[in-house]
Amino acid sequence: MNIVVYPDQVLRQKAKPLTQINKEVYQKVEQMMELMYQAQGVGLAAPQVDWSVRLVIIDTNSNKSEETVFINPVIIEEAGEVNKEEGCLSFPGVRSKIIRAHRIKAHAYNLKGQKLEIVAEGLAARAWQHELDHLDGTLFIDRMSPASRLASSPQLKELERDKKATRISV
Ligand code: ZN
Repeated sequence: MNIVVYPDQVLRQKAKPLTQINKEVYQKVEQMMELMYQAQGVGLAAPQVDWSVRLVIIDTNSNKSEETVFINPVIIEEAGEVNKEEGCLSFPGVRSKIIRAHRIKAHAYNLKGQKLEIVAEGLAARAWQHELDHLDGTLFIDRMSPASRLASSPQLKELERDKKATRISV
């Protein structure tokens, strides 16, 4: 399993709902976890490992014991606005300020199929919005201001040239 890097087309697909939690899902989630912690990320969406389903891993406390796997997640409420820097494991070397809601409320399922209600703030809320965007093929470059997009364009061009050269794998 690899982390897919921009401009791979899977990052632009709308991911499908996950309808069955089976052994394959558990195995893939385990590999995704390994990749995310290895890359020191706080979130990873399934399309970023070339798996086009609605599943994300979010862990902004590096606390592996808490609930970190969210299936078919939906944000149902957003409040506030914060403009802060963020990055993406699919865009090595690119960082930019992005406006996000400060607080979110979401619904999702865990790996046991139990329905969860999540309230997140600050970095966790940012991670939720960033990772859920991935499920719809929306990338953080789409949310950059024109000035930030321009400032990032050398790095983006480099990624477009490199293509699969910068993948991280386990
Ligand atoms: Zn990302």
